[in-house]
Amino acid sequence: MIVMKFGGTSVMDATAIERTAQIVKGRLPRHPVVVVSAMSGVTDALLKAGKAAGEGQREQALEQARSLRQRHHATAKELVGSAQIVDLLAEVDREFDTLDELLKGIVAVGELSPRSSDYVVSYGERLNSRIITEAYKARGIRSVLVDARKVIITDSQHGKAIPQADEIEHRAKNLVRPLLDDGQVPILGGFIGATEHGVQTTIGRGGSDYSAALIGSGLDAEAIEIWTDVDGMMTTDPRICPDARRIRVISFEEAAELAYFGAKVLHPATVLPAVQKNIPVLVLNSLNPSNEGTLIVGRAPKSKSTFKAIAAKRRITIVDVVAARMLGAHGFLKAIFDVFDKHQCSIDVVSTSEVSVSLTVDSNEAIPAIAADLEKIADVKYAGRNAIICLVGENIRETPQIAAQVFAALGEINVRMISQGASEINITFVIGEDDVLEAMRRLHKAFFTEVDPEAFD
Ligand code: ADP
Ligand code: ASP
Ligand code: MG
Repeated sequence: MIVMKFGGTSVMDATAIERTAQIVKGRLPRHPVVVVSAMSGVTDALLKAGKAAGEGQREQALEQARSLRQRHHATAKELVGSAQIVDLLAEVDREFDTLDELLKGIVAVGELSPRSSDYVVSYGERLNSRIITEAYKARGIRSVLVDARKVIITDSQHGKAIPQADEIEHRAKNLVRPLLDDGQVPILGGFIGATEHGVQTTIGRGGSDYSAALIGSGLDAEAIEIWTDVDGMMTTDPRICPDARRIRVISFEEAAELAYFGAKVLHPATVLPAVQKNIPVLVLNSLNPSNEGTLIVGRAPKSKSTFKAIAAKRRITIVDVVAARMLGAHGFLKAIFDVFDKHQCSIDVVSTSEVSVSLTVDSNEAIPAIAADLEKIADVKYAGRNAIICLVGENIRETPQIAAQVFAALGEINVRMISQGASEINITFVIGEDDVLEAMRRLHKAFFTEVDPEAFD
């Protein structure tokens, strides 16, 4: 069996969904399980609706829901014939009626809890998986909807719940496998899950990739296909550099670094369940399905190019901790890290000097509180609007003078922090957010104008 995951842009409207139906049809002999995202933009709209409700803006919240209802209605009508449409629209309406009630409830309580937010946002994947199941049936595919909340079991950290792999494997084998054995095509919404007690959760933005990998790993899939709107993993974000090239094969480790440092094409955690079972992951283009895409495997073949790709992660805050007296002292770094840990804030890049430690974190609301805690042990400064640039490639290990070439390519662009290279396959540094576009273009030009044609398209 294989897992096919279609991201938001691949299922954004009736035409796009129709396209995926044809792609799935072509793979029926491989026994696909299909994982779908919400239509593009829907998750953001639901989050906005929830936020508006939490702030007491009843009309804005209900207006968002109304326009989403219309969009789902229109899509369903275009895809499903007259015999089935009445039932489907009635069901869509029932779901939207409960969403309206939920939003009114949030207005009444005057607060959007993380638990309610997960509930609100789950409508995107729930509704789309329902509509897509019906659309596939109408096209002769024996599709069957599986409630992802019965399979993707997580802990209760709302918004970024941690999936419980063993339980998911157990559920996938019991609930999904028999459908495949019966020749049906199971369809699940990505991104959503539930605790063992049935409380709804979500597994982080972009999490449908992760859902696909968890199911693929639970069922020992032959392959996991991540269908998106570009030809695969590219040397950089094609929206930044139109001359970005397709990477033919990339290693799990390289893909994970890239995903973590901002290559939005893949959710960072996706690769892990797949790596553990050595399942190949393919990134493919639903707008250009005959393209080979990018294959992610345990060990990538040797290429002559030093780098595979460049990624940028924006919205980074640099925190400088200065303590002339304490730095050498035993336990000082631990005390600093404990503060970040207490606020459940993960650190990306660390660099230390004689008297200071600089760290980067994703910008978030907890930073003033973190700084206040750190001030109990040291002097603290922090500055937002930074970005991490990360160049990735297995060959970095073997290439001398590589950092010098990178900094030469950057020219006068001011580098604010350089990482200490814990991973041998990336070079990571921090610049101001305003310099990102220029830095990416310069680096891409310097390192990807002439590349190994066997490694890149
Ligand atoms: P989906 O809706 O399919 O999940 P995403 O928007 O999450 O799609 O990811 C696909 C987008 O990722 C592309 O449209 C592209 O702009 C962006 N992207 C960023 N970095 C890269 C990269 N290195 N390779 C390919 N796409 C990238
Ligand atoms: N719909 C969710 C999001 O936009 C999950 C996903 O698309 O992967 O984050
Ligand atoms: Mg995505």
